[in-house]
Amino acid sequence: MKNILVSGGAGFIGSHLCTRLVNEGHHVICLDNLFTGAEANIEHLKGNAHFEFVNHDVEFPYHAESLDEIYNLACPASPIHYQYDAIKTIKTSVLGAINMLGLAKKTNAKILQASTSEIYGDPVVHPQVESYWGNVNPIGPRSCYDEGKRCAETLFMDYHRQNNIRIKIIRIFNTYGSRMLPNDGRVVSNFVVQALKNRDITIYGTGDQTRSFQYIDDLIEGMVRMMNTEDEFIGPVNLGNPNEFSILELAEKVIQLTGSKSKLVFKPLPHDDPKQRQPDITLAKKKLNWQPTIELEDGLHRIVEYFRDYRYID
Ligand code: NAD
Ligand code: UDP
Repeated sequence: MKNILVSGGAGFIGSHLCTRLVNEGHHVICLDNLFTGAEANIEHLKGNAHFEFVNHDVEFPYHAESLDEIYNLACPASPIHYQYDAIKTIKTSVLGAINMLGLAKKTNAKILQASTSEIYGDPVVHPQVESYWGNVNPIGPRSCYDEGKRCAETLFMDYHRQNNIRIKIIRIFNTYGSRMLPNDGRVVSNFVVQALKNRDITIYGTGDQTRSFQYIDDLIEGMVRMMNTEDEFIGPVNLGNPNEFSILELAEKVIQLTGSKSKLVFKPLPHDDPKQRQPDITLAKKKLNWQPTIELEDGLHRIVEYFRDYRYID
């Protein structure tokens, strides 16, 4: 049994990760300030003697006696949420990374950073390989998130080089699944909730821009495999589903699956919205023996069922 800390553990991805780690028999401390997370996401773990929830903001140091592993996930991930208080977002990424790395140093824990495909910005190399340095606007409305995450990667590398901290960096591509909040604002949850309510489906721009959507269970498997690799392998490694779809194709699939009467409406494209995104997962296949197993239609079917049962859907 390991002592594992998950920052951002009450969020969408974090709550699935906490569940997996508790089920494997580990002791899990979930650190979260509940900005975009929800206690409902971890309700099922609360009675478990091997699960602790601590309401804490990672902008401030956290003390723990003994830890084997830290997963650093704390950070709002949906554009509407990370742009709500941009300064807070960058502090969460940068100070959060410093505080979690400091904790790893004190406890000699191994630490994994939940980085993002956003570090590639609006990519001119396609699909994106880990060796690509990206095309990020440093002064735009998305920069608080993109540059915060880039700086966090730099901090991880420097703590590793300077202090021999055992680190792992994963770059997560668009992930969806149960426990996303209906007001999360990201495209899959927006479209599914809109379709179930027969409301207009909001396409930003022409809908020709692409994303590659990964189901949550595939990501969790990849994350845990990455944490368990030999110390020499630190990444960064892409974790995503390489099947690429336009946003219009996604909308059509959601309408078809739900049998919705929703119509498509076109809204302005947000500033700096990346035109294309697709992971090259050669490295993950080789080093983690991992690749996604859940394709979009199957994953969409699951999230549709989740939101159908969700108590706020009328
Ligand atoms: P989420 O918003 O559901 O989860 C983030 C969690 O972090 C929430 O529970 C939130 O309350 C918590 N948090 C935010 N600021 C905090 C702070 N200052 N102190 C403590 N807790 C704080 O988003 P998610 O999709 O679960 O993303 C989790 C992580 O994975 C994030 O770091 C995100 O950048 C990364 N990621 C996610 C995706 C994706 O597609 N879901 C893609 C790339 C990277
Ligand atoms: N998007 C959209 N309608 C929505 C929400 C998002 O057309 O209601 C588009 C958005 O402009 C982007 C893509 O869907 O091109 C993915 O957006 P999301 O916020 O999910 O993720 P990110 O842009 O961070 O990859």
